[in-house]
Amino acid sequence: MWLQVGLLCLPFLFLSSLSQATDRASLHRSSDPAIRCHYTFTVTRPEDSSCPESGLTPETDAILSRLTLLEALVSRVMAGAEGATGTGVRANSEEGLQEAYSQVTRERNQLQQDKEHLNRQIQELQRRLAELSQEAESLRQTPCQQTHTTGGPEHERRPASDPAHHFGNGDYQEMKAEVTEVPASHLISEGNHNFTGCGELLSVGDPVLHRKADSITGKYGVWLQDPEPQGAYYTNKTVWRIDAVGKDVRQLFVYEDMDQFSRGFPRKVLALPEPMESTGATIYRDSLYYQRKLSRTLIHYSLTSESLVSHLDLPSASFHGQYPYSWGGYTDIDLAVDEQGLWAIYSTSKAKGAIVISQLDPESLVVKKSWETKIRKNTVANAFMVCGRLYTLASYTAPNTTINYVFDTATSVGLAVSVPFKNKYRYNSMLDYNHAQKKLYAWDNFHMVTYDVRLRRVGHGNR
Ligand code: CA
Repeated sequence: MWLQVGLLCLPFLFLSSLSQATDRASLHRSSDPAIRCHYTFTVTRPEDSSCPESGLTPETDAILSRLTLLEALVSRVMAGAEGATGTGVRANSEEGLQEAYSQVTRERNQLQQDKEHLNRQIQELQRRLAELSQEAESLRQTPCQQTHTTGGPEHERRPASDPAHHFGNGDYQEMKAEVTEVPASHLISEGNHNFTGCGELLSVGDPVLHRKADSITGKYGVWLQDPEPQGAYYTNKTVWRIDAVGKDVRQLFVYEDMDQFSRGFPRKVLALPEPMESTGATIYRDSLYYQRKLSRTLIHYSLTSESLVSHLDLPSASFHGQYPYSWGGYTDIDLAVDEQGLWAIYSTSKAKGAIVISQLDPESLVVKKSWETKIRKNTVANAFMVCGRLYTLASYTAPNTTINYVFDTATSVGLAVSVPFKNKYRYNSMLDYNHAQKKLYAWDNFHMVTYDVRLRRVGHGNR
Protein backbone atom coordinates (compact mmCIF):
# COMPACT_ATOMS: atom_id res chain seq x y z
CA MET A 1 0.00 0.00 0.00
CA TRP A 2 2.68 2.48 0.93
CA LEU A 3 4.61 1.65 -2.19
CA GLN A 4 1.56 2.46 -4.24
CA VAL A 5 1.12 5.75 -2.42
CA GLY A 6 4.78 6.56 -2.99
CA LEU A 7 4.57 5.91 -6.68
CA LEU A 8 1.48 8.01 -6.95
CA CYS A 9 3.23 10.82 -5.13
CA LEU A 10 6.41 10.85 -7.28
CA PRO A 11 4.86 12.83 -10.01
CA PHE A 12 3.76 15.29 -7.42
CA LEU A 13 7.37 15.77 -6.27
CA PHE A 14 8.55 16.27 -9.86
CA LEU A 15 5.71 18.59 -10.76
CA SER A 16 6.06 20.41 -7.52
CA SER A 17 9.65 21.29 -8.36
CA LEU A 18 8.56 22.27 -11.80
CA SER A 19 5.95 24.49 -10.20
CA GLN A 20 8.62 26.16 -8.27
CA ALA A 21 10.61 26.78 -11.42
CA THR A 22 7.82 28.78 -12.96
CA ASP A 23 5.18 30.94 -11.45
CA ARG A 24 2.92 30.36 -14.45
CA ALA A 25 2.10 26.80 -13.50
CA SER A 26 -0.13 25.66 -10.60
CA LEU A 27 -0.74 22.36 -8.91
CA HIS A 28 -3.70 21.33 -6.76
CA ARG A 29 -3.88 18.29 -4.56
CA SER A 30 -6.87 16.41 -3.18
CA SER A 31 -7.51 13.04 -1.70
CA ASP A 32 -10.34 10.59 -1.81
CA PRO A 33 -11.60 7.88 0.50
CA ALA A 34 -9.54 5.25 -1.34
CA ILE A 35 -6.38 6.89 -0.01
CA ARG A 36 -5.22 8.05 -3.41
CA CYS A 37 -3.69 11.36 -4.20
CA HIS A 38 -5.29 13.40 -6.97
CA TYR A 39 -3.36 16.27 -8.52
CA THR A 40 -4.52 18.82 -11.00
CA PHE A 41 -1.76 20.45 -13.03
CA THR A 42 -2.32 23.71 -14.90
CA VAL A 43 0.22 25.34 -17.23
CA THR A 44 0.17 28.33 -19.59
CA ARG A 45 0.03 27.86 -23.40
CA PRO A 46 3.33 26.97 -25.17
CA GLU A 47 3.77 30.34 -26.72
CA ASP A 48 3.64 31.86 -23.31
CA SER A 49 5.89 29.30 -21.75
CA SER A 50 9.49 30.05 -20.95
CA CYS A 51 10.49 26.43 -21.09
CA PRO A 52 13.89 26.16 -22.75
CA GLU A 53 14.34 24.11 -25.91
CA SER A 54 16.78 21.95 -24.12
CA GLY A 55 13.74 20.60 -22.37
CA LEU A 56 12.61 18.82 -25.64
CA THR A 57 12.95 15.11 -25.69
CA PRO A 58 14.99 13.16 -28.30
CA GLU A 59 11.74 11.72 -29.58
CA THR A 60 10.51 15.24 -30.21
CA ASP A 61 13.73 16.05 -32.04
CA ALA A 62 13.28 12.97 -34.16
CA ILE A 63 9.73 13.90 -34.93
CA LEU A 64 10.82 17.40 -35.85
CA SER A 65 13.52 16.02 -38.09
CA ARG A 66 11.04 13.75 -39.76
CA LEU A 67 8.64 16.62 -40.15
CA THR A 68 11.42 18.67 -41.73
CA LEU A 69 12.15 15.83 -44.12
CA LEU A 70 8.49 15.44 -44.89
CA GLU A 71 8.19 19.17 -45.50
CA ALA A 72 11.17 19.03 -47.87
CA LEU A 73 9.67 16.00 -49.57
CA VAL A 74 6.30 17.68 -49.83
CA SER A 75 8.02 20.75 -51.26
CA ARG A 76 9.71 18.69 -53.92
CA VAL A 77 6.51 16.81 -54.67
CA MET A 78 4.63 20.08 -54.88
CA ALA A 79 7.30 21.51 -57.11
CA GLY A 80 7.11 18.43 -59.33
CA ALA A 81 3.37 18.58 -59.29
CA GLU A 82 3.50 22.20 -60.23
CA GLY A 83 5.93 21.32 -63.01
CA ALA A 84 3.70 18.54 -64.15
CA THR A 85 0.73 20.80 -63.82
CA GLY A 86 2.54 23.41 -65.94
CA THR A 87 3.15 20.88 -68.69
CA GLY A 88 -0.47 19.88 -68.51
CA VAL A 89 -1.49 23.48 -68.65
CA ARG A 90 0.67 24.00 -71.70
CA ALA A 91 -0.82 20.92 -73.28
CA ASN A 92 -4.26 21.99 -72.29
CA SER A 93 -3.50 25.49 -73.52
CA GLU A 94 -2.45 24.10 -76.91
CA GLU A 95 -5.60 22.05 -77.14
CA GLY A 96 -7.62 25.04 -76.07
CA LEU A 97 -5.97 27.21 -78.70
CA GLN A 98 -6.57 24.61 -81.38
CA GLU A 99 -10.21 24.36 -80.36
CA ALA A 100 -10.51 28.12 -80.27
CA TYR A 101 -8.87 28.37 -83.69
CA SER A 102 -11.22 25.76 -85.06
CA GLN A 103 -14.14 27.60 -83.55
CA VAL A 104 -12.97 30.90 -85.02
CA THR A 105 -12.44 29.22 -88.39
CA ARG A 106 -15.92 27.77 -88.29
CA GLU A 107 -17.37 31.12 -87.32
CA ARG A 108 -15.37 32.84 -90.05
CA ASN A 109 -16.66 30.37 -92.65
CA GLN A 110 -20.18 30.82 -91.36
CA LEU A 111 -19.79 34.58 -91.53
CA GLN A 112 -18.51 34.32 -95.10
CA GLN A 113 -21.53 32.23 -96.00
CA ASP A 114 -23.78 34.72 -94.28
CA LYS A 115 -22.02 37.52 -96.14
CA GLU A 116 -22.53 35.80 -99.49
CA HIS A 117 -26.14 35.15 -98.61
CA LEU A 118 -26.63 38.77 -97.64
CA ASN A 119 -24.92 39.93 -100.82
CA ARG A 120 -27.33 37.84 -102.82
CA GLN A 121 -30.20 39.30 -100.86
CA ILE A 122 -28.84 42.78 -101.48
CA GLN A 123 -28.64 42.12 -105.20
CA GLU A 124 -32.16 40.74 -105.19
CA LEU A 125 -33.41 43.71 -103.19
CA GLN A 126 -31.62 46.11 -105.50
CA ARG A 127 -33.25 44.44 -108.46
CA ARG A 128 -36.64 44.57 -106.72
CA LEU A 129 -35.99 48.20 -105.82
CA ALA A 130 -35.28 49.00 -109.44
CA GLU A 131 -38.50 47.30 -110.45
CA LEU A 132 -40.49 49.02 -107.76
CA SER A 133 -38.95 52.34 -108.69
CA GLN A 134 -39.94 51.70 -112.24
CA GLU A 135 -43.48 50.85 -111.23
CA ALA A 136 -43.59 53.81 -108.87
CA GLU A 137 -42.48 56.01 -111.72
CA SER A 138 -45.33 54.66 -113.78
CA LEU A 139 -47.78 55.30 -110.98
CA ARG A 140 -46.52 58.83 -110.62
CA GLN A 141 -47.39 59.43 -114.22
CA THR A 142 -50.99 59.97 -113.35
CA PRO A 143 -53.27 62.48 -115.03
CA CYS A 144 -52.56 65.02 -112.31
CA GLN A 145 -49.07 65.40 -113.77
CA GLN A 146 -50.55 66.83 -116.89
CA THR A 147 -50.39 70.17 -115.18
CA HIS A 148 -46.64 70.07 -115.76
CA THR A 149 -45.46 71.41 -119.03
CA THR A 150 -41.83 70.43 -119.05
CA GLY A 151 -40.33 67.34 -120.57
CA GLY A 152 -36.99 66.14 -121.74
CA PRO A 153 -34.68 63.24 -122.14
CA GLU A 154 -34.61 62.54 -118.41
CA HIS A 155 -38.36 62.03 -118.49
CA GLU A 156 -38.51 59.88 -121.54
CA ARG A 157 -40.92 57.41 -120.06
CA ARG A 158 -43.31 60.07 -118.91
CA PRO A 159 -46.14 60.76 -121.28
CA ALA A 160 -45.59 64.46 -120.84
CA SER A 161 -42.21 64.10 -122.53
CA ASP A 162 -43.59 62.46 -125.63
CA PRO A 163 -43.59 65.18 -128.29
CA ALA A 164 -46.63 63.62 -129.81
CA HIS A 165 -48.52 63.83 -126.54
CA HIS A 166 -50.68 66.83 -125.88
CA PHE A 167 -51.53 67.80 -122.35
CA GLY A 168 -55.14 67.52 -121.57
CA ASN A 169 -55.48 64.83 -124.17
CA GLY A 170 -58.73 63.04 -123.53
CA ASP A 171 -57.28 59.62 -124.30
CA TYR A 172 -55.02 59.63 -121.30
CA GLN A 173 -57.56 60.79 -118.79
CA GLU A 174 -60.11 58.41 -120.11
CA MET A 175 -57.71 55.44 -119.98
CA LYS A 176 -56.53 56.16 -116.46
CA ALA A 177 -59.97 56.81 -115.10
CA GLU A 178 -61.60 53.75 -116.52
CA VAL A 179 -58.76 51.35 -115.86
CA THR A 180 -58.27 52.22 -112.26
CA GLU A 181 -61.38 53.78 -110.92
CA VAL A 182 -64.56 52.90 -112.76
CA PRO A 183 -66.37 49.95 -111.15
CA ALA A 184 -66.70 46.82 -113.25
CA SER A 185 -70.48 47.05 -113.09
CA HIS A 186 -70.26 50.44 -114.75
CA LEU A 187 -68.03 49.06 -117.48
CA ILE A 188 -70.43 46.19 -118.07
CA SER A 189 -73.30 48.60 -118.27
CA GLU A 190 -71.41 50.42 -120.98
CA GLY A 191 -71.29 47.21 -122.99
CA ASN A 192 -67.62 46.47 -122.54
CA HIS A 193 -68.31 43.14 -120.88
CA ASN A 194 -69.26 41.51 -124.18
CA PHE A 195 -67.14 43.75 -126.33
CA THR A 196 -65.18 41.71 -128.85
CA GLY A 197 -64.09 44.35 -131.31
CA CYS A 198 -60.82 46.16 -131.57
CA GLY A 199 -60.18 48.48 -128.70
CA GLU A 200 -57.91 49.41 -125.86
CA LEU A 201 -56.59 46.96 -123.30
CA LEU A 202 -58.87 46.99 -120.27
CA SER A 203 -57.65 44.09 -118.16
CA VAL A 204 -55.54 40.94 -118.16
CA GLY A 205 -56.78 37.83 -116.37
CA ASP A 206 -54.85 35.34 -114.27
CA PRO A 207 -52.36 33.05 -116.04
CA VAL A 208 -53.69 29.66 -117.13
CA LEU A 209 -51.10 26.89 -117.26
CA HIS A 210 -51.06 24.64 -120.31
CA ARG A 211 -47.70 22.95 -120.19
CA LYS A 212 -44.55 22.86 -118.12
CA ALA A 213 -41.25 22.15 -119.87
CA ASP A 214 -39.50 19.07 -118.57
CA SER A 215 -35.88 19.96 -119.35
CA ILE A 216 -33.48 22.86 -119.03
CA THR A 217 -33.99 23.73 -122.69
CA GLY A 218 -37.49 24.79 -121.70
CA LYS A 219 -36.35 27.53 -119.36
CA TYR A 220 -37.52 30.01 -121.96
CA GLY A 221 -38.90 29.86 -125.47
CA VAL A 222 -41.78 30.67 -127.76
CA TRP A 223 -45.18 29.04 -128.04
CA LEU A 224 -48.07 30.28 -130.13
CA GLN A 225 -51.17 29.52 -132.11
CA ASP A 226 -51.80 31.03 -135.53
CA PRO A 227 -54.55 33.70 -135.31
CA GLU A 228 -55.18 33.56 -139.05
CA PRO A 229 -54.41 30.12 -140.52
CA GLN A 230 -54.94 30.12 -144.26
CA GLY A 231 -55.65 26.51 -145.06
CA ALA A 232 -56.92 23.28 -143.58
CA TYR A 233 -53.52 21.68 -143.04
CA TYR A 234 -52.87 23.73 -139.94
CA THR A 235 -55.67 25.36 -138.01
CA ASN A 236 -56.11 27.86 -135.23
CA LYS A 237 -56.05 24.87 -132.88
CA THR A 238 -52.52 23.89 -133.91
CA VAL A 239 -49.93 24.73 -131.29
CA TRP A 240 -46.37 25.71 -132.14
CA ARG A 241 -43.45 25.56 -129.75
CA ILE A 242 -39.75 26.45 -129.88
CA ASP A 243 -37.39 25.91 -126.95
CA ALA A 244 -35.06 28.89 -127.20
CA VAL A 245 -32.28 27.68 -124.90
CA GLY A 246 -29.20 26.53 -126.77
CA LYS A 247 -26.60 27.63 -129.29
CA ASP A 248 -28.39 26.37 -132.37
CA VAL A 249 -32.14 26.79 -132.04
CA ARG A 250 -33.79 25.24 -135.10
CA GLN A 251 -36.48 22.86 -133.87
CA LEU A 252 -40.12 23.80 -134.29
CA PHE A 253 -42.51 21.43 -132.52
CA VAL A 254 -46.01 21.11 -133.92
CA TYR A 255 -48.94 19.88 -131.81
CA GLU A 256 -52.36 18.88 -133.09
CA ASP A 257 -54.17 20.91 -130.48
CA MET A 258 -53.92 22.25 -126.97
CA ASP A 259 -54.72 18.87 -125.45
CA GLN A 260 -51.85 17.15 -127.28
CA PHE A 261 -49.64 20.08 -126.39
CA SER A 262 -50.48 19.75 -122.72
CA ARG A 263 -49.80 16.02 -122.89
CA GLY A 264 -46.48 16.60 -124.62
CA PHE A 265 -47.22 14.67 -127.81
CA PRO A 266 -45.99 16.62 -130.86
CA ARG A 267 -47.43 15.83 -134.26
CA LYS A 268 -44.13 16.56 -135.94
CA VAL A 269 -40.92 18.54 -135.61
CA LEU A 270 -39.79 20.95 -138.31
CA ALA A 271 -36.14 21.84 -138.85
CA LEU A 272 -35.69 25.55 -139.51
CA PRO A 273 -33.33 26.64 -142.31
CA GLU A 274 -31.54 29.19 -140.12
CA PRO A 275 -30.85 29.21 -136.39
CA MET A 276 -33.08 31.44 -134.33
CA GLU A 277 -32.17 34.23 -131.94
CA SER A 278 -34.08 34.87 -128.74
CA THR A 279 -37.84 34.62 -128.11
CA GLY A 280 -39.25 37.20 -130.53
CA ALA A 281 -40.66 34.82 -133.15
CA THR A 282 -44.31 34.89 -134.17
CA ILE A 283 -46.77 32.84 -136.22
CA TYR A 284 -49.07 34.46 -138.77
CA ARG A 285 -51.01 33.14 -141.77
CA ASP A 286 -49.23 29.76 -141.98
CA SER A 287 -45.83 31.39 -141.65
CA LEU A 288 -43.19 31.60 -138.98
CA TYR A 289 -41.34 34.91 -138.67
CA TYR A 290 -38.16 35.09 -136.66
CA GLN A 291 -34.77 36.76 -136.28
CA ARG A 292 -31.77 34.89 -137.63
CA LYS A 293 -29.10 34.31 -135.02
CA LEU A 294 -26.41 37.00 -134.66
CA SER A 295 -28.01 39.27 -137.22
CA ARG A 296 -30.77 41.79 -137.85
CA THR A 297 -32.04 39.54 -140.60
CA LEU A 298 -35.69 38.59 -140.46
CA ILE A 299 -36.75 35.18 -141.74
CA HIS A 300 -40.11 34.41 -143.33
CA TYR A 301 -40.58 30.64 -143.21
CA SER A 302 -43.59 28.86 -144.69
CA LEU A 303 -45.09 26.29 -142.34
CA THR A 304 -47.00 24.56 -145.12
CA SER A 305 -44.18 24.24 -147.64
CA GLU A 306 -41.60 24.00 -144.87
CA SER A 307 -39.29 26.30 -146.76
CA LEU A 308 -37.79 29.77 -146.66
CA VAL A 309 -40.04 32.36 -148.29
CA SER A 310 -37.99 35.51 -147.83
CA HIS A 311 -35.43 37.16 -145.63
CA LEU A 312 -34.53 40.78 -145.16
CA ASP A 313 -32.49 42.90 -142.82
CA LEU A 314 -34.54 45.08 -140.50
CA PRO A 315 -32.96 48.48 -141.26
CA SER A 316 -30.65 49.82 -138.53
CA ALA A 317 -32.10 47.40 -135.98
CA SER A 318 -29.91 46.63 -133.02
CA PHE A 319 -29.32 42.96 -132.29
CA HIS A 320 -27.54 40.50 -130.02
CA GLY A 321 -27.76 42.42 -126.79
CA GLN A 322 -27.43 46.04 -127.88
CA TYR A 323 -30.97 47.00 -126.90
CA PRO A 324 -32.74 44.00 -125.41
CA TYR A 325 -35.65 43.95 -122.98
CA SER A 326 -34.76 44.15 -119.31
CA TRP A 327 -34.40 40.40 -118.91
CA GLY A 328 -31.73 40.26 -121.62
CA GLY A 329 -31.67 37.08 -123.67
CA TYR A 330 -30.75 38.97 -126.86
CA THR A 331 -34.36 40.14 -127.07
CA ASP A 332 -33.41 43.01 -129.33
CA ILE A 333 -35.94 42.24 -132.04
CA ASP A 334 -39.46 41.23 -131.03
CA LEU A 335 -41.96 40.33 -133.74
CA ALA A 336 -45.66 40.66 -133.07
CA VAL A 337 -49.00 40.17 -134.75
CA ASP A 338 -52.32 41.85 -134.11
CA GLU A 339 -55.55 42.70 -135.92
CA GLN A 340 -53.61 45.02 -138.20
CA GLY A 341 -50.83 42.71 -139.30
CA LEU A 342 -47.15 42.02 -138.64
CA TRP A 343 -44.97 44.28 -136.50
CA ALA A 344 -41.37 44.53 -135.36
CA ILE A 345 -40.55 46.00 -131.94
CA TYR A 346 -36.88 46.93 -131.58
CA SER A 347 -34.48 49.86 -131.28
CA THR A 348 -31.73 51.49 -133.30
CA SER A 349 -28.57 53.47 -132.65
CA LYS A 350 -30.36 56.53 -133.89
CA ALA A 351 -33.17 56.00 -131.41
CA LYS A 352 -30.57 55.40 -128.67
CA GLY A 353 -32.43 52.55 -127.07
CA ALA A 354 -35.94 53.93 -127.39
CA ILE A 355 -38.48 51.46 -128.72
CA VAL A 356 -39.09 51.68 -132.45
CA ILE A 357 -42.19 50.10 -133.95
CA SER A 358 -42.30 49.12 -137.60
CA GLN A 359 -45.17 47.61 -139.49
CA LEU A 360 -43.89 44.99 -141.93
CA ASP A 361 -45.19 43.57 -145.17
CA PRO A 362 -45.91 39.92 -144.28
CA GLU A 363 -44.66 38.64 -147.61
CA SER A 364 -41.54 40.69 -148.34
CA LEU A 365 -40.73 41.86 -144.78
CA VAL A 366 -40.29 45.39 -146.10
CA VAL A 367 -40.95 48.11 -143.52
CA LYS A 368 -44.19 49.86 -144.37
CA LYS A 369 -44.04 52.51 -141.66
CA SER A 370 -42.12 53.20 -138.46
CA TRP A 371 -42.78 55.01 -135.19
CA GLU A 372 -40.27 56.00 -132.53
CA THR A 373 -41.50 56.03 -128.95
CA LYS A 374 -39.98 57.62 -125.88
CA ILE A 375 -39.85 54.50 -123.77
CA ARG A 376 -36.48 52.82 -123.40
CA LYS A 377 -36.53 49.22 -124.46
CA ASN A 378 -34.29 48.00 -121.67
CA THR A 379 -36.59 49.43 -119.01
CA VAL A 380 -39.47 47.12 -119.89
CA ALA A 381 -39.72 43.35 -119.73
CA ASN A 382 -41.57 42.66 -122.96
CA ALA A 383 -44.11 44.12 -125.36
CA PHE A 384 -46.99 43.14 -127.63
CA MET A 385 -49.36 44.78 -130.08
CA VAL A 386 -53.14 45.01 -129.80
CA CYS A 387 -55.18 46.87 -132.42
CA GLY A 388 -52.17 48.89 -133.59
CA ARG A 389 -51.16 49.82 -130.06
CA LEU A 390 -47.95 48.81 -128.38
CA TYR A 391 -48.20 47.70 -124.77
CA THR A 392 -45.17 47.16 -122.53
CA LEU A 393 -44.77 44.94 -119.48
CA ALA A 394 -43.05 46.58 -116.50
CA SER A 395 -41.37 43.53 -114.95
CA TYR A 396 -40.61 39.97 -115.97
CA THR A 397 -40.09 38.73 -112.39
CA ALA A 398 -42.45 40.65 -110.10
CA PRO A 399 -45.42 38.40 -109.32
CA ASN A 400 -47.68 41.42 -109.38
CA THR A 401 -46.64 43.92 -112.01
CA THR A 402 -48.36 46.02 -114.63
CA ILE A 403 -48.76 46.73 -118.28
CA ASN A 404 -47.28 50.16 -117.85
CA TYR A 405 -47.26 51.95 -121.18
CA VAL A 406 -49.19 52.15 -124.40
CA PHE A 407 -48.23 53.76 -127.68
CA ASP A 408 -50.91 54.26 -130.27
CA THR A 409 -49.57 54.11 -133.83
CA ALA A 410 -52.73 55.80 -135.06
CA THR A 411 -52.06 58.95 -133.11
CA SER A 412 -48.34 58.55 -132.29
CA VAL A 413 -49.30 59.21 -128.69
CA GLY A 414 -47.60 57.40 -125.84
CA LEU A 415 -49.29 57.12 -122.47
CA ALA A 416 -48.56 55.58 -119.11
CA VAL A 417 -51.14 53.05 -117.96
CA SER A 418 -51.38 50.59 -115.11
CA VAL A 419 -53.08 47.34 -116.01
CA PRO A 420 -52.34 44.63 -113.41
CA PHE A 421 -50.39 41.63 -114.69
CA LYS A 422 -49.14 38.53 -112.88
CA ASN A 423 -45.80 36.81 -113.46
CA LYS A 424 -46.84 33.73 -111.53
CA TYR A 425 -43.59 31.85 -112.12
CA ARG A 426 -41.32 34.87 -111.76
CA TYR A 427 -39.35 34.73 -115.06
CA ASN A 428 -41.44 35.78 -118.01
CA SER A 429 -39.37 35.57 -121.17
CA MET A 430 -41.99 35.86 -123.90
CA LEU A 431 -45.29 37.69 -124.28
CA ASP A 432 -47.41 37.85 -127.43
CA TYR A 433 -51.01 38.63 -128.27
CA ASN A 434 -53.31 36.38 -130.27
CA HIS A 435 -56.20 38.49 -131.56
CA ALA A 436 -58.26 35.47 -132.64
CA GLN A 437 -58.14 33.94 -129.17
CA LYS A 438 -58.13 37.31 -127.39
CA LYS A 439 -55.35 35.94 -125.25
CA LEU A 440 -51.79 36.72 -124.33
CA TYR A 441 -49.36 33.83 -124.69
CA ALA A 442 -46.41 33.78 -122.32
CA TRP A 443 -43.47 31.58 -121.42
CA ASP A 444 -42.87 32.04 -117.72
CA ASN A 445 -39.97 30.06 -116.27
CA PHE A 446 -40.65 26.68 -117.92
CA HIS A 447 -44.39 27.32 -117.78
CA MET A 448 -46.43 27.97 -120.92
CA VAL A 449 -49.43 30.04 -119.93
CA THR A 450 -52.17 32.15 -121.46
CA TYR A 451 -53.99 35.19 -120.13
CA ASP A 452 -57.47 36.24 -121.14
CA VAL A 453 -57.59 39.90 -122.07
CA ARG A 454 -60.51 42.27 -122.15
CA LEU A 455 -60.63 45.24 -124.43
CA ARG A 456 -62.73 48.32 -124.17
CA ARG A 457 -64.30 50.47 -126.76
CA VAL A 458 -62.24 53.41 -127.87
CA GLY A 459 -64.08 56.65 -127.37
CA HIS A 460 -62.78 58.44 -130.40
CA GLY A 461 -63.66 55.78 -132.93
CA ASN A 462 -62.96 52.09 -133.20
CA ARG A 463 -60.24 50.82 -135.41
CA1 CA B 1 -43.33 40.04 -127.37
